[in-house]
Amino acid sequence: MAQINQNFLELQGSYLFSEIAKRRTKFIQENPNAEIISLGIGDVTLGLPEAITKAMHSAVDELASPGSFRGYGPEQGYDFLVNAIIEGDYKSRGIDIQSNEVFVSDGSKCDVGNIQEIFSQDSIVAVQDPVYPVYVDTNVMAGRSGSFNKDKNQYENIVYLPSNAENNFKPSLPQSKADLIYLCYPNNPTGTTLTKDELKAWVDYAKANNSIILYDSAYEAFIREEDVPHSIYEIEGAKEVAIEFRSFSKTAGFTGVRCAYTVVPRELKGRDASGNEVLVNDLWNRRHTTKFNGVSYVTQRGAAAIYSPEGQAQIAELVDYYMTNAAIIRDGLKSLGLEVYGGVNAPYIWLKTPSGLDSWAFFDKLLSEANIVGTPGVGFGQSGQGYFRLTAFGSRENTEKAVERIRKLSL
Ligand code: PLP
Repeated sequence: MAQINQNFLELQGSYLFSEIAKRRTKFIQENPNAEIISLGIGDVTLGLPEAITKAMHSAVDELASPGSFRGYGPEQGYDFLVNAIIEGDYKSRGIDIQSNEVFVSDGSKCDVGNIQEIFSQDSIVAVQDPVYPVYVDTNVMAGRSGSFNKDKNQYENIVYLPSNAENNFKPSLPQSKADLIYLCYPNNPTGTTLTKDELKAWVDYAKANNSIILYDSAYEAFIREEDVPHSIYEIEGAKEVAIEFRSFSKTAGFTGVRCAYTVVPRELKGRDASGNEVLVNDLWNRRHTTKFNGVSYVTQRGAAAIYSPEGQAQIAELVDYYMTNAAIIRDGLKSLGLEVYGGVNAPYIWLKTPSGLDSWAFFDKLLSEANIVGTPGVGFGQSGQGYFRLTAFGSRENTEKAVERIRKLSL
């Protein structure tokens, strides 16, 4: 019998979403007529914008004819998409990114999960708490985590950086050394952001400590406020210390289409076992071209259409729709006296559970009394205990209905 990778046995069951599904199913069995509104999972609901589907249709037609057929493409992405990304997301903000620094992929989940492979086994990993679970679990699989401490609800060798109302959701810089620091802004699950100065403090820390920041910017399109950076490369010197991940999933309704990209600057260096400098870009290029065979031509044509004037106007409409939902939830809950965070530059609303209820007790109350499914904050980490996440990705009708139902609860 083959020996399995023992690290996988350190993983905790994917408790959060399976437990949510279990409780939801049980409630529906006992209350078959209840009309459940789901504001739990972070998936979009509106259709793809027309500029994108048009581009995808014509790409399909191209593939049908031998003269314009495409087989394997460049693993890093076609030039037409890479150039559109550079022009639309970076040059337009005064940031200089070269085409060999952009890697197109089929999703940020894979990229933020796979990136750790190119760093040494003994790297110390720091994450915000609460956190998008992929950062932690992929490092557990790689054997960097140590054992899971059930009492603390945390792994032994991971540095957790609490993010809560007490620190205004701005975690302190690590007190001990961290080699790899995962930052997610606008943040999932809390919906909060950093200002440019606050992000600069992380870049300065990374420079002083030879750390690398893994900056997940999947929700960049939802930024509304002026002083919130759209890219970590707006901070001077960040190219020497940061990798940036962007996704079209929430920006343009691509959760099912699948397309994202990662920027690995040529300035970013690590050290080998003998202390020599190594370009991280070269390693990621090697990894990406070995294990990944490129995003489909049709998908990349669709993604490039996001950057056309029509595409830009249409995705702005999508984002506006969700952000109006966010405002409805945020304002509605605030008017009830609830402590509410996020929802201004992100499609997530993070609320302090009322009456001292813990996250799961509030989940049960919301499900049984308002027939609404949300996500208990503790599922994202111990610092999420006593918080709850609602998403703005539902329909307008359901969003308004949900707020009305919450209004009728005794909180
Ligand atoms: N990063 C964060 C913070 C997310 O919340 C998500 C999806 O929910 C992803 C990455 C994954 O994005 P993708 O759909 O591109 O895999």
